[in-house]
Amino acid sequence: MSIKIQVPVVDSKLAAVFPEVCVCCGAPREVESALVLGRQVARGKRQESITVKFDVPHCERCGRTTKAVFLAGCIPFVLGFVLVGLGVFGVVAYLALGSGLDDHGKPGNSNSLLLGAAAGFFSGLIGAFVFEVAARVVLLPFLGRGLSNAPLLAIQLLRDSQYIAGLSAKLNSEATHVELELANARVAEQFAALNR
Ligand SMILES: [Zn+2]
Repeated sequence: MSIKIQVPVVDSKLAAVFPEVCVCCGAPREVESALVLGRQVARGKRQESITVKFDVPHCERCGRTTKAVFLAGCIPFVLGFVLVGLGVFGVVAYLALGSGLDDHGKPGNSNSLLLGAAAGFFSGLIGAFVFEVAARVVLLPFLGRGLSNAPLLAIQLLRDSQYIAGLSAKLNSEATHVELELANARVAEQFAALNR
């Protein structure tokens, strides 16, 4: 069972230290995986963008899994977005042009391109999602638990959270705290004891 811990943010840094073990499996620390969380926060009248960046200890194997899982999600996501988005953009813009959409309104308008771009953007998002799910089904036997535990990129984008092996992190709406969710209860205990 995963354990949630709230950690305060001070000067855009995480006010806590990680134990010298892999957050995923508890093996000795060998590498680090960087996590970057960002958010727009209203400070008085203006918007400020806050970025909190920190390194999370991993063992060699979990660090590698994190990279592989990121690529396994990111590459099909981008590919699906570009391929489906461009395809739909082309078809919709071409059909709209053919149907005489640009003949109405002001001369020289590019309504067909705008319509194509809007259609392309939304179908691109759907394409990205479908490609990522398909890639996950294909890659699951190779990447195993590291991949099945990771939420889909589309969902991470919606929820504003970041995932690496053994840990997911989310910045609260005022950017004063980071909510860490540790998958390994023993590591969570060590973390809590270290930052009491
Ligand atoms: Zn590990």
